[in-house]
Amino acid sequence: MAEVLVYVDHVDGAVRKPTLELLTLARRIGEPVAVHLGAGADTAAATLAEYGAVKVLAADAAEFADYLVVPKVDALEAAYNAVSPAAVLLPSSAEGKEIAARLAVRIGSGIITDAVDLEAGDEGPVATQSVFAASYSTKSRVTKGTPVITVKPNSAAPEAAPAAGTVEQLAVSFGEKSTGTKVVSRTPRESTGRPDLTEAAIVVSGGRGVNGAENFAIVEALADSLGAAVGASRAAVDAGWYPHTNQVGQTGKSVSPQLYIAAGISGAIQHRAGMQTSKTIVAINKDAEAPIFDLVDYGVVGDLFEVVPQLTDEIKTRKG
Ligand SMILES: Cc1cc2nc3c(=O)[nH]c(=O)nc-3n(C[C@H](O)[C@H](O)[C@H](O)COP(=O)(O)OP(=O)(O)OC[C@H]3O[C@@H](n4cnc5c(N)ncnc54)[C@H](O)[C@@H]3O)c2cc1C
Repeated sequence: MAEVLVYVDHVDGAVRKPTLELLTLARRIGEPVAVHLGAGADTAAATLAEYGAVKVLAADAAEFADYLVVPKVDALEAAYNAVSPAAVLLPSSAEGKEIAARLAVRIGSGIITDAVDLEAGDEGPVATQSVFAASYSTKSRVTKGTPVITVKPNSAAPEAAPAAGTVEQLAVSFGEKSTGTKVVSRTPRESTGRPDLTEAAIVVSGGRGVNGAENFAIVEALADSLGAAVGASRAAVDAGWYPHTNQVGQTGKSVSPQLYIAAGISGAIQHRAGMQTSKTIVAINKDAEAPIFDLVDYGVVGDLFEVVPQLTDEIKTRKG
């Protein structure tokens, strides 16, 4: 069976969920071979094996941390040359997409970004993308070279399928161009304790209806009762009620969680562009005519200041 390279997103060997999703999707088109760069390959290998990696190609070098993406492209190219894979899969993060694009240029391949599904096809893997503010789904296939495909987080539920996960060292050499951009400092972001917005399985977002920064506490309380990330509409962000990093939409983050709850958000096309592929959508809005109700699975017509705290209490009660 053909091998499929899967680029591992991790923090010191703690594998992030989108990689488990990639391994699950990779199994539809071949045998996953994970590419682990940086420290922690031995720790990561157990998880990668559990989710179907037949092999883990590991390389650790200071260059991966000290410089921006090019050393990682060098390593992925070395893995590509070692394996001759049927496809290369990466997470659709900003870094994942940059690595993917550079790799595709180097190996002369076509690239598909932001796939939301992947299936085997007679002439190579077929990727689904959600386009035009999610009003269309397209299916595409790379027709030149080895498909390089980035997949959005939450596109598949990770499924365990134990495999060998044998760790093999990957030899990588870095050229002069690899060290063109050096990382000069790192400042860890203050942790909110909530999951990352683009990877969260549940997102609770607030809009102009929240009516003030201080009122976002009720959105956060609902999010915390569900273990969710907090999002915001641009109106809420522009008003200074919530950080720009939490904006969902065309000019913010694109999210695709299992559950998206919108409170006090009207459902403008630019907001929908960032959340319409969510699996289940719930809206709370006091205006029964609000456009968001056109796309919801469940809608509550009501004042969010009454509905959201009741919902939070009910969830807490049911969780015991
Ligand atoms: C180029 C461009 C890019 C953009 N990018 C983005 C983007 O990335 N993300 C984004 O979100 N927007 C984006 N916008 C802005 C977008 O067009 C909308 O203006 C914005 O999404 C509106 O935010 P909102 O739904 O919070 O506010 P509004 O449209 O004002 O809606 C507020 C809603 O809250 C409801 N409400 C009020 N009080 C309550 C209450 N007490 N209880 C319940 N419901 C209540 C109202 O009925 C209303 O439906 C962009 C616009 C442009 C032009």
